Amino acid sequence: MQINLAKSAGFCFGVKRAINIALETKSGAKVNMLGDIVHNEDIVRQLEKKGIKKITGLSAGKNKTLLLAAHGTSLKIINRANELGYKIIDATCPMVKEIHRIAKDMENKGYRIIVIGDKKHAEVLGISGQLKNKTIVMDSLKNLPPKKLQSIEKAAVVVQSTQNLEKVLKIVGVLKQRIRKLEFFNTICQPTRIKQKDLKVLPKANDAVIIIGSKKSANTKRLYEISKSLNKRSYWVAGKKEIKSNWFKNAKSVGITAGASTPDSTTQEIIEYIRTNY
Ligand code: SF4
Repeated sequence: MQINLAKSAGFCFGVKRAINIALETKSGAKVNMLGDIVHNEDIVRQLEKKGIKKITGLSAGKNKTLLLAAHGTSLKIINRANELGYKIIDATCPMVKEIHRIAKDMENKGYRIIVIGDKKHAEVLGISGQLKNKTIVMDSLKNLPPKKLQSIEKAAVVVQSTQNLEKVLKIVGVLKQRIRKLEFFNTICQPTRIKQKDLKVLPKANDAVIIIGSKKSANTKRLYEISKSLNKRSYWVAGKKEIKSNWFKNAKSVGITAGASTPDSTTQEIIEYIRTNY
């Protein structure tokens, strides 16, 4: 069976940067990372082995360094960490920081901020957590809040960096009909756009598609959704153990891509496994 790996598979610049910052920070000091610095269990485990402890909440921070995740952190948490005495090292991706900047700027100009993204995702919570007023978060047209929208004079829309552009444009189209003054900022990051562009071809050009990445990874989920809409034989796996033999029945080719936080070692392991077994 032929194996076709997407050129854009694997780490994006923001994830690479966050991992490098984490590794550079570990120099004898007590380093904590607040949640997963990137959404990949293997990477988090590797960093923990190097002595960077994952914490889920803040405690006394004296003599401790706190690493902030690539997908951003709310101001409330940052302020609390400062009060507790942590030394803060911020590994937030510059592209997420740019979303924060736009949202704050537009809020200061009197716009209500609408975030298109996954309601509970850390990046979306981080964006909302930069602002004085409550944001409206929308993940689909099904959840359009008509009453809230009616009262809005002017709104600015920002987008979680890993959203599916086509879906976002549909939501923005409807919002434009409801809100007189609407400013739209397409803040889907460049690596996500390239990955999604590759996925317009890969599922159509192959009999089956494997998308590799953690089940916690929002961008991997998007890739899977796009692939599945174009090729029913699309499968999302975190590792080779999840691969099932019936997926490749009569398949002459398999397309492979990997989310922005998936290490190349995992992708290579899966390619090797498929090459050996199918
Ligand atoms: S997916 Fe985009 S926004 Fe997120 S870390 Fe990577 S480059 Fe940054």
